Amino acid sequence: MSTSAQLREETICCVVGGGPAGAMLALLLARQGVEVTLLEAHRDFERDFRGDTLHASTMEILDEIGLADRLLELRHAKVRHFTVPTKGGEFTFDLFAGLRTRFPYIVVMAQSRFLEFITEEAKRYPNFRLAMGARVEELLEEDGVVRGVRYRGRDGWREVRATLTVGADGRFSKVRRLAGFDPVKISSPIDVLWFRISRREEDPKEALAARMGSGLFLVLIDRFDYWQVGCTILKGGYRRIRDAGLEGLRRSLARVAPEWADRFDELEDWKQIPVLSVEISRLKRWHKPGLLLIGDAAHVMSPLGGVGINYAIQDAVVASNVLGKKLATGTPIQERDLAEVQRRRELPIRAIQTFQSLGQRGVARGVLNSEGERAFAVPRLVLLLLKIPRLLAIPARFLSFGLRPPHVEAGEEITTRAENASPPSVPTR
Ligand SMILES: Cc1cc2nc3c(=O)[nH]c(=O)nc-3n(C[C@H](O)[C@H](O)[C@H](O)COP(=O)(O)OP(=O)(O)OC[C@H]3O[C@@H](n4cnc5c(N)ncnc54)[C@H](O)[C@@H]3O)c2cc1C
Repeated sequence: MSTSAQLREETICCVVGGGPAGAMLALLLARQGVEVTLLEAHRDFERDFRGDTLHASTMEILDEIGLADRLLELRHAKVRHFTVPTKGGEFTFDLFAGLRTRFPYIVVMAQSRFLEFITEEAKRYPNFRLAMGARVEELLEEDGVVRGVRYRGRDGWREVRATLTVGADGRFSKVRRLAGFDPVKISSPIDVLWFRISRREEDPKEALAARMGSGLFLVLIDRFDYWQVGCTILKGGYRRIRDAGLEGLRRSLARVAPEWADRFDELEDWKQIPVLSVEISRLKRWHKPGLLLIGDAAHVMSPLGGVGINYAIQDAVVASNVLGKKLATGTPIQERDLAEVQRRRELPIRAIQTFQSLGQRGVARGVLNSEGERAFAVPRLVLLLLKIPRLLAIPARFLSFGLRPPHVEAGEEITTRAENASPPSVPTR
């Protein structure tokens, strides 16, 4: 790396990663008048391996900052009803019937559109800067304090010096690795085959369809132009599925989801069917002087329940509530402030990860295993719960909001740092 080619920038908060956690934090800080730079490795938000579900917790957060109705003007679908197989046939229920919220549904929206929407909103604030195609490779550290990052941009190396650096760079977080943090892994018995098939007018109208049977568990997400399919397999089972051949997989898929049977013929090459490793893990410590990790960088979420985006956004809200005012006024950020963010989020994260871990074990029991095929039926006791909205509201609330859902505490600060804030403060140990 040539030092002479480096360009240097100073900011108050440098957020690494333009996923749900990073984009939302950048917006919430920008609203408070904090000078914030958001660095995203990719040149756009179009990536395949992203979830698309926004739960009521996220919609309420957006409502609190006046964005929910505008977001709902974008192309989306609302999911209320779910169908599960039982011993006596299929049973459909409204999961959110007993939930008290303005948004008793799951919004399914392309995550790329959602991220564009959030970052466009952030651009309204002159104290916000977004760098796309900016891959962070190094942390700037002085005397054990993180003072920013070095990244590879479109036109060479650049440096951002910052009062606070936030790693929101997802499950394979480079920032986490550079900081020397090692996540504690919780065993995960499943992986996911992730592929797309074409969509036709006459296809089922479900925005989020789940099909179980013949030893497979499929989730089909309507992305309007095509269907994104997630097919759960047992961890380590990919080799066996490959050995059985593409025709065998196509036949099994067609049996489970006959409405799409002819579409599975589009799968002609294994390259179309990447296998995604499902992981659940979390850090013991989310911070060190000058650095905070949030979202999947701090706690990797399983796709189960489609909650990861929403928990990442809740982390952003808490970080902005705890740190925003201090950053906006130039008050030094102590490590105990960073610890406070972790303290507020730790219990909800542990709770949902326990739920995901148990859920994964249940799913694993229903999917393909080496002995052959197993049918999956929802137990009778669970079925009883699904029929009573007031009882159903308990798991619905947990799934939609989790424990201790945060609210946006800080109001919008119209003036920008250039006009009224103090110069960057130095984080202390
Ligand atoms: C197959 C699958 C399906 C899922 N489906 C859902 C779902 O439907 N609903 C749901 O709520 N959750 C889902 N999840 C979980 C969800 O994707 C994550 O929990 C969520 O995206 C976490 O958000 P984040 O902002 O922390 O990280 P991410 O969304 O991973 O965003 C991190 C960002 O950082 C960027 N980045 C990475 N490294 C660098 C770097 N060095 N420099 C700069 N930028 C960098 C990345 O490009 C990315 O944009 C799914 C997960 C998987 C694996």
